[in-house]
Amino acid sequence: MIYLDNAATTKVFDEAVSAAAQMMTDNFYNPNATYTHGVAVKSFIESCRKEIAKYLGAEDKEIIFTSCATESNNWVFSQGRKRPSGNIVISAGEHSSVYEPAMRLKSRGTDVRIAKLDKSGRVDTDDLLRLVDDNTSLVSVIHVSNETGVINPIKDICSAVKRKSKNALFHSDGVQGALKSDSVDSLGVDYYSVSAHKMGAPKGIGLLYVNKKLNIAPMLVGGGQERGLRSGTQNTAYIAAFAAAVKQFIKTRDLERTHAIRNKLVELFTDSGAKIIGDRSNSGYILCVCLNGAKAEIVQNAACDRGVVIGKGAACSGSKRGNRVLSAMGLSDSEVERCIRISLCNDTSMGDAVTASEIILECAYKIRRGNV
Ligand code: PLP
Repeated sequence: MIYLDNAATTKVFDEAVSAAAQMMTDNFYNPNATYTHGVAVKSFIESCRKEIAKYLGAEDKEIIFTSCATESNNWVFSQGRKRPSGNIVISAGEHSSVYEPAMRLKSRGTDVRIAKLDKSGRVDTDDLLRLVDDNTSLVSVIHVSNETGVINPIKDICSAVKRKSKNALFHSDGVQGALKSDSVDSLGVDYYSVSAHKMGAPKGIGLLYVNKKLNIAPMLVGGGQERGLRSGTQNTAYIAAFAAAVKQFIKTRDLERTHAIRNKLVELFTDSGAKIIGDRSNSGYILCVCLNGAKAEIVQNAACDRGVVIGKGAACSGSKRGNRVLSAMGLSDSEVERCIRISLCNDTSMGDAVTASEIILECAYKIRRGNV
């Protein structure tokens, strides 16, 4: 099987499985217990936090573990504004875990403004800055698009927003950008959401980076864990797995190689007459292709039958019709229906990627000819 749906989720590294198993067996103690075993687990959790922070480009006190990036994103929208009365600006390219919390606030009366995307899928910075004013309390722009792999210039956008509005806090959904693009400290953001299962850790653990200058209100109150910001006994097994996965991800990462594979795929699909959604400056990990005359869903199933697993739009919104983000880029409904997403991981080989693209193109050809 050739698995190319890594933007949906990744296979868990063996090192992460072992780290989790160790915490569930030998080191199962509650990290908040005051006897020696608990203290040792707590100290291990803190060393994991330090390790993850280091690779993300943050300080350990800026990392709050959550259950997933959806929780991190929701937290920013529910508690992350200094002035809950101000307006909110998001881009039209946001994942549903940012878009839906924004829409919930809108339904309760908040002024939510949506900045346009350009044809490449990047947020239109001029449009975004036009929407930001002194009354803006939060701006949220995705770092790397989960749909197309386009990279937003977060550092520039964030500093321009801060120049225009003193009160606006800046959040970026870093789920597809963390460890794969610029580090958090280079972006200048206030909040940054990360999900562990996109980098070889299990599903069900994530984090929110909160800039040390900020005081966000707690996501959950109770026992006061996570510096009082997210009560609940920590998921020690998955935190250990998260740290092990981050280490392994960094060890196996070769951004140049991943880019070269993506570029080869761009070449093969372009030669076949398919349209690439995005350009060569996109993340090397994600490629969105609009196929010629074949619906993505049918190609996805046919390719899967031949051992090639690819995506078509975000897996978490897979049951919803259409694609809000691709439509916002100006794609027609018929084009959106023909878009597949190929997403790589560190161990994707050039050979596998080329074989997969040939199978996908054969499937699309047969479907177009009515042979499937
Ligand atoms: N944000 C982006 C850009 C994503 O791609 C995803 C998952 O697909 C999420 C948020 C949600 O992450 P999680 O599954 O950890 O809630």
